[in-house]
Amino acid sequence: MKVKEWCMFCGECAGVCPRNLIEVRETSIRFSEDMCKECNICIDACPVRALER
Ligand code: SF4
Ligand code: SF4
Repeated sequence: MKVKEWCMFCGECAGVCPRNLIEVRETSIRFSEDMCKECNICIDACPVRALER
């Protein structure tokens, strides 16, 4: 997953991942990509469209 530089680390994406694969901290975001089922729910949930596959 690519994260654009305008990510504001709001945590919305982490909150919707059905597998809980996204960890958002104050200034960082991390994906456990190997478990990702590519449902794109996180991409659609981002209010500023900061995620891209
Ligand atoms: S929802 Fe978007 S802006 Fe918020 S932490 Fe996730 S990628 Fe960043
Ligand atoms: S695509 Fe789906 S499974 Fe993968 S990180 Fe996003 S919400 Fe989670």
